[in-house]
Amino acid sequence: MRVGIPAESRPAERRVAGLPETVASLIGAGLAVEVQSGAGAHAHASDAAYRSAGAEIVPDHPAGRADVVTSVQPLDPDRARLLRAGDITVSFLQPAAELDLVRVLADRGVTAFSLDLLPRVTRAQSADALSSQALVAGYRAVLLAAGRLPRFLPMFTTAAGTVPPAKVLVLGAGVAGLQAIATARRLGAVVEAYDVRRAAAEEVRSLGAKFLELDLETQDGVYAAEQSETHLERQRELIAERVAASDVVISTAAVPGRKAPVLVTTDMLKAMAPGSVVVDLAAESGGNVVGSAPGEDVWVGDVLVHGARNLPSGMPAHASRLYAKNVANLLALMTADGRVEPDLTDEVLSGACLTHAGEVRHAPTRELL
Ligand code: NAD
Repeated sequence: MRVGIPAESRPAERRVAGLPETVASLIGAGLAVEVQSGAGAHAHASDAAYRSAGAEIVPDHPAGRADVVTSVQPLDPDRARLLRAGDITVSFLQPAAELDLVRVLADRGVTAFSLDLLPRVTRAQSADALSSQALVAGYRAVLLAAGRLPRFLPMFTTAAGTVPPAKVLVLGAGVAGLQAIATARRLGAVVEAYDVRRAAAEEVRSLGAKFLELDLETQDGVYAAEQSETHLERQRELIAERVAASDVVISTAAVPGRKAPVLVTTDMLKAMAPGSVVVDLAAESGGNVVGSAPGEDVWVGDVLVHGARNLPSGMPAHASRLYAKNVANLLALMTADGRVEPDLTDEVLSGACLTHAGEVRHAPTRELL
């Protein structure tokens, strides 16, 4: 069977779903691979490198020719119309925002796997693209803030005087938040963080940051549940003073399947020192910071609020390396003897499968159609 790796067509997407090393592993599993010319250009993977790994380089998109199409972003609905019944796609699908595409995939009888739906069980960890890309986002959020901050992050003791370290506050300590904490610490900042989940406290401390103990109910479990507006109001009151004292705030708070909680208000921004920088990693899912907009810099007085948009795409080589490996690992779960034949009784494949044989299998998406 044939796996296709297209050049990404959505605006500003610089990653690619396969690299020469993963092409080699797919070929080792008995598959043939075709790569659209130039697909790896932003990730510095040349057509020649893919060819050396055994891929065929093709001039156009593989939809309609390859049996399995792997991409980072969802396919455009017009491309998906070229797919044949039984074809397989693997990508992020963001189904709630891609209902036209979901209809096309179901109508065409495509078996579509959405990496945003992958169950986070141990066996699926090596295919967990949400985590690998959140890691990139958390890292880049801090570099972005450091680049915009009109001051140092580390402490310096010089003949011209001593510069104190910057204070960084991280809100939400999941995969992205923990990576933001680790990155800010490596750059020498003094870091504190807060998460509604009790278990996050130990992880925050293990990275050398201070966990904010707030007089608020915390949650057990691995994933945050939606908080009431009263709870969030109280949280905002309690963190206001810490936001005001910070030079940088990185907000990453999210609740699966829900709009991001609002944690930082305009008044809180106005209380920050001039030149402070806020990076809202949740900007694309509603925003943790009032007024933030994806991909935009917004000034609130003298405070810069950057709304993050697809930060992993800005580091295409390593983001693609992790993503391509995630995709190859997911394909390995459904490949035997050179054939990709997903067993949909497998909990990982079943959980990640959005459409199959004309049906939308994911109930929350079905309800939106
Ligand atoms: P996420 O992106 O859904 O959310 C980010 C963080 O925001 C979470 O830690 C959440 O608790 C926090 N949050 C929600 N509301 C908040 C609020 N009002 N204030 C402060 N923080 C708030 O999270 P994620 O990165 O996907 O990770 C969620 C959990 O899943 C973590 O416990 C992580 O360790 C776990 N995880 C497990 C696996 C696996 O087992 N395969 C893989 C990845 C992540």
